[in-house]
Amino acid sequence: MNNLNLEIEQLLRSEDVSFVHFVDISMLDIQHNRGLPYAILIGIAINPQFIKMVYDSPNYVHTLDDKYAQTENQVGLIADKLADRLIKNDYKALSQSDSGLIADNSFDFTTKTSVLPHKTIATLSGIGHIGKNNLFITTEYGAAQCLGSVLTNAPLAVMKHEIQLPECNSCNICRDICPPKVLKGKCWNTKVSRDEMVNVNECITCLKCLVHCPKTQAYMKRNISIW
Ligand code: SF4
Ligand code: SF4
Repeated sequence: MNNLNLEIEQLLRSEDVSFVHFVDISMLDIQHNRGLPYAILIGIAINPQFIKMVYDSPNYVHTLDDKYAQTENQVGLIADKLADRLIKNDYKALSQSDSGLIADNSFDFTTKTSVLPHKTIATLSGIGHIGKNNLFITTEYGAAQCLGSVLTNAPLAVMKHEIQLPECNSCNICRDICPPKVLKGKCWNTKVSRDEMVNVNECITCLKCLVHCPKTQAYMKRNISIW
């Protein structure tokens, strides 16, 4: 890790970010990496008490001001701040926050797809995999993290990592618990598209696939004193 990596990591840790990874995206085509060779992946863990509340509330539906939304907004604001700082230091930088994606015209509201999803960057970071719930899953937090990313040409130190394949095996908890049955139980690999895994247009954002995943449950149980 070089000094710039350390400086960025310290800055992000001071903002209570749970993890930071420096990712090589130079192998992607220019439509996806926008001519920028590196991505800074930012993750903030979702509050375990909130996970428990959703788990205990069979009719819960995600709102625009719940803890999940707040965590997503927080990641976006931190990504914007980091991109501004890199630009002030004469580097190119693109925050993939909601506002950054709109300004860059790189989010398609009709298909709900972005040019380079955080999840794709996360798979290149080697820290986790995409589960049958179509969410990024890490050992430490399960699916309970919100991701953000900044693309840049700043001279970061990066390492290449093997892409992790799903560890869902025969589990189908997320598919079976999904109320509108939009999850298809399909195991992800780099050739599987989002639409082969989930019908996003029919998703009611109840978060059941997130909170009921055993990997999220393990995170929640490790971090809640009374269970
Ligand atoms: S895919 Fe959507 S509707 Fe199905 S469990 Fe997950 S959040 Fe709920
Ligand atoms: S609930 Fe089971 S199948 Fe779904 S993502 Fe988690 S481990 Fe994979």
